[in-house]
Amino acid sequence: MGSLWLITLESQEVEILQNVMIPELTGRVMDYKELIAIYLQEYVYPSDKEKWQACMSLSALKEMCQSACREKVFEMRFRNQSFGFEWHQAFLHVFEDESGKPDRILLSSRYINEFKRGEIIAKAVETEYDYVNYIDADTNSYVMYASNVQSGTPMPPITSNDYEMEVRTYNRIYVPAEQQEELTEKMMLANILPIIEEKGECIIYGNMLEDGVLKDKKMRYSYFDRENSILVMTRTDITEIKEEKRQKQLLQDALNAASAANKAKSEFLSRMSHDIRTPMNAIIGMTAIAGAHIEEQDRVADCLAKITSSSRLLLGLINEVLDMAKVESGNIVLAEEKIDMAGMTQSIINMIQPMIDRKKQFFEAHIEDVKDEMVIGDLQRLQQVLLNLLSNATKYTPEGGHILFEIKEKPSMQRGMGCYEFSVSDDGIGMTQDFLERIFEPFERADDEAIRSIPGTGLGMAISKNIVEMLDGTIQVESTYGKGSKFTATFCLRLQEQPEWNTASLAGLPILVVDDDEIVCVDVCERLEKMGMDGEYTLCGRDAVEKVVSAHYKGRDYFAVIIDLRMPGMDGIETTRRIRAQVGKEVPIIMISAYDWSEFEDEAVKAGVNDFIVKPLFQSRLVYKLNQLVSKQSEPISKGFNSLPQGEYGGKRILLAEDNALNREIATELLSAVNLDVEVAENGQIAVNMVQEKPEDYYDLIFMDMQMPVMDGCDAVRNIRGLNRKDVKRMPIIAMTANAFSDDVEKTKAAGMNEHLSKPIDMEVLSQTLAKWLL
Ligand code: ADP
Repeated sequence: MGSLWLITLESQEVEILQNVMIPELTGRVMDYKELIAIYLQEYVYPSDKEKWQACMSLSALKEMCQSACREKVFEMRFRNQSFGFEWHQAFLHVFEDESGKPDRILLSSRYINEFKRGEIIAKAVETEYDYVNYIDADTNSYVMYASNVQSGTPMPPITSNDYEMEVRTYNRIYVPAEQQEELTEKMMLANILPIIEEKGECIIYGNMLEDGVLKDKKMRYSYFDRENSILVMTRTDITEIKEEKRQKQLLQDALNAASAANKAKSEFLSRMSHDIRTPMNAIIGMTAIAGAHIEEQDRVADCLAKITSSSRLLLGLINEVLDMAKVESGNIVLAEEKIDMAGMTQSIINMIQPMIDRKKQFFEAHIEDVKDEMVIGDLQRLQQVLLNLLSNATKYTPEGGHILFEIKEKPSMQRGMGCYEFSVSDDGIGMTQDFLERIFEPFERADDEAIRSIPGTGLGMAISKNIVEMLDGTIQVESTYGKGSKFTATFCLRLQEQPEWNTASLAGLPILVVDDDEIVCVDVCERLEKMGMDGEYTLCGRDAVEKVVSAHYKGRDYFAVIIDLRMPGMDGIETTRRIRAQVGKEVPIIMISAYDWSEFEDEAVKAGVNDFIVKPLFQSRLVYKLNQLVSKQSEPISKGFNSLPQGEYGGKRILLAEDNALNREIATELLSAVNLDVEVAENGQIAVNMVQEKPEDYYDLIFMDMQMPVMDGCDAVRNIRGLNRKDVKRMPIIAMTANAFSDDVEKTKAAGMNEHLSKPIDMEVLSQTLAKWLL
């Protein structure tokens, strides 16, 4: 019991029957107002002062009596030294005299701190936890304080002598079957106790059914009383938290996707500007050179060849721009085209040459063990990666530096596949180990003073890596800061049938190879020997002259001498000059160079060079040149640029379906050049009608555009093939279209076309196609 006061209203006195807060007042009679004031001043907790006045002031008591209220209960907080305040509960009871008039009021109060705290904790438990459980680990019993019993959440029994059995029973009912066993196992004391021992707590997550809805629950176990092995376990519903997290994650994912898309777009634009500029630069530069040497036919032809190969690359890039939508949507179609390694390498070197020359760098290209030169793959993407590596090598290597391009064919694990390793090394600025970890990330450029002035986007490598992965290849980089870098890209490519080299007439012929690079010498001699020739090498011009002269006087002239243009000391031209001075014109001399030989051509020819061959020395080139020497044919000036198609088809008739007037004119002109008789149709429907109206076998071949008004090419071909006559089944129909992607090729094939020529028309391909179908 707490305090007990009896207040007499008329005298305004209070008889203090008991008092816990001020024990010395017990038994005294005091002025009520005075007592109330002391309490207000000294004991009432400041926040409850108003409440004290409202309930306990004399006027409040009088008002209570007047309002016929006879009982009142309220809670008050009083100051407490240790905790700030403590809770008391007060009862006011009004007594009346005989006439029924209220005359006294009894106040009794009790200390309710413990109770109140319990209530507060219960409130907190209710909002935070489904329940709090005290488990006696020694006896496997528990007492549970469930706050939420009304909420529909099913609870295990409030007390039990078998915690583990209750867990099993409960989980069997409320936990989804597939999780039951695992969760129950986790909630066993044998699992929990060692974890608490080690970490201080054990947290278990699980799903439980509540009103048919699966909820996420978190169970936390810790020691409540370690000595007596009493654990406290709480169970919290975290469904909302998880849901909130999930929503946040969804938002985050959407944001990431949006910024990735955005990034991909800007990435793409920047990349295009970089990649388009490289071949464009070659085209503009070569046009200027051709203009400056317009009278020199060979020079102009050479420039045109380079312009053509750069235009091809540019065309490839344009195709790729349009293909980009497919890359973004993830369903990229890789081209499957015939690749001639030697041709591809040459066109890459041609493209990179102007950059190398501008920086006066030394460029070498080696091949090792390349036995299979004809492969199948995506030429343009392969070229793009290699061009990227090479252009970086020259960009990040100072003037006068060295760049080495190597191609190796490695043993392949799969039949019908060739494994090629392309590497580009330089002795340029190199990269730090730290940067190497990020080099393939989009937009990453080394944070280096040396590269600030070098234009770049930081995209080339990321793009190259993507392409390499698309082609199922790998790309690696090694670099030492300040010393140089080496990039190695490896691809497995499907092999085409390799042409048979005709080497019979070369058997036993002695050849001298002169190059300061021993790797080249060894590789070339090995290949010469495989062709049945007698290869020998020397590393310097002086030795070469000696060998040639001595062989000459022994009457055993070399069949040919292959000399490198650039050599330290005596270079290739000087070596040639000296050989010619001593042995005359007898021995053919072939000059090899990774460089653009046209610059040195005049001087070299004057010195006595008979022919040129570019590095790297592919087998096909070597055999071709040597065979030419055997048959003593002089090679016609090789035209790398497009000439008119070749052939003679007098009397054959072509139907050309093409809606664009200019394209019609070009195609008619080209086809007429080989004596073909061309009839034109302006759309697919007209083409169908023309075939239908003409007698069988009137047309020998049809060229069909894809996109045309009224009826497109594919529909037209389906209609033609479906006509009820014999010739249309065997008539060659060839797509001639600007729709050049691999899936366009699939479409024309599916419509019944025999081949797919893409515009702009490659004369060589056109000549071959005509020969294939009309001869
Ligand atoms: P870009 O050349 O347009 O900056 P890349 O993605 O091609 O972009 O290259 C990324 C970065 O990697 C370059 O900015 C450069 O810091 C570094 N890097 C690439 N190749 C070389 C190299 N051969 N030598 C030194 N650093 C290189």
